[in-house]
Amino acid sequence: MTRLVMKFGGTSVANVQRIRNVARHVKREVDAGADVAVVVSAMAGKTDELAAWCKEAAPLYDQREYDAVVAAGEQVTAGLLAIALQQLGVPARSWLGWQAPILTSDAHGAARITSIEGAKIIEGFALRREVAVVAGFQGLHEPTGRITTLGRGGSDTSAVALAAAINADRCDIYTDVDGVYTTDPRVVHKARRMERIAFEEMLEMASLGAKVLQVRSVEAALVHKVPTYVRSSFDDPERPNSGTLICNEEDIMETKVVTGVAFSRDEAQITLRRVADKPGVAAAVFLPLAEAGVNVDMIVQVAGEDAMTDMTFTVSAAEFERARTILEKAKDSIGYASLTGANDVAKVSAIGIGMRSHAGVAAEGFKALAEKGINIRAITTSEIKFSVLIDAAYTELAVHTLHALYGLDKG
Ligand code: ASP
Ligand code: MG
Repeated sequence: MTRLVMKFGGTSVANVQRIRNVARHVKREVDAGADVAVVVSAMAGKTDELAAWCKEAAPLYDQREYDAVVAAGEQVTAGLLAIALQQLGVPARSWLGWQAPILTSDAHGAARITSIEGAKIIEGFALRREVAVVAGFQGLHEPTGRITTLGRGGSDTSAVALAAAINADRCDIYTDVDGVYTTDPRVVHKARRMERIAFEEMLEMASLGAKVLQVRSVEAALVHKVPTYVRSSFDDPERPNSGTLICNEEDIMETKVVTGVAFSRDEAQITLRRVADKPGVAAAVFLPLAEAGVNVDMIVQVAGEDAMTDMTFTVSAAEFERARTILEKAKDSIGYASLTGANDVAKVSAIGIGMRSHAGVAAEGFKALAEKGINIRAITTSEIKFSVLIDAAYTELAVHTLHALYGLDKG
């Protein structure tokens, strides 16, 4: 018997009519003989609304109570979907995070799942052919007995982790797009939906700016090897179209060297001029940032002449001001002449497991960008991707250029 986890995001459950539509998708799989656990998000916009209420109540609210408030969004949709399924004659019940239970760390607002007890859900399949409708995004910190949430977009991670816990054959993520594209189709009209993408590639795509899935959910899919299928919830429930399967690289036939181009405008660059070129300076710069929880991404250090050097690195745009303040405070202990920053920068990346076995892929990309007059401010590479930092104004041109260069344009 097939065992499935089906996950529906906020736009897919935005109102009762759409929840009825979701129930029809679930019924289709149940009728085909599958055991189904469904994971739902809150109705579109609800989590924002609930979070805003916390802020309105007190600017520095208690994170544990914030979790109690925002977890309510998923409680509503889990109950409503169970009702809609029963209405179609499909046995169903809701499960809140604490009921399953889905156990997490105590990092309120950004908790990590530590384990999921799937036995009662599986018992429901076996004894009552009952669909389990699980509230995404929420869990329980058992030692304190408090409700936790996983961080924005976290119900993707709930779904993949649940699929691993109940040993599901697949995790289907129903969303408002019909799969994973070679790049954002709103930017490049010739972007194509991929039939398949490897776990590692999807992890890079998600980390580097593609917004289809929460990064942690892809990490969980990779670690537990859960085949994850991204598909549209707006298809006719009785005649759904195909989506994109995230799977092992061995299960992909057609391979291109580069499979996708991702970008992020959420970047900022900081340059420290004339820091001493001696041991310990990088630590003096990056330790205070790390201690404050600021993530540093690309780092470029220029070889200096007179025992002095320039250091450039990037942080997310949201952390730009915080990073700048920290470094200004640490000016004496670091010792630099000036600090400059820019947040009109963007990071554009090309991703593909084929890069492991092909030399010169990045160099070709740099050449193509140069021919368009795009200046590269910083570069990072790994086995299966390269990223360039450029002026934000050139983002679309750079994405178009790389997408065409690596043969990803359709038609
Ligand atoms: N409702 C939560 C959010 O809006 C979790 C999710 O939808 O994945 O972030
Ligand atoms: Mg989402």
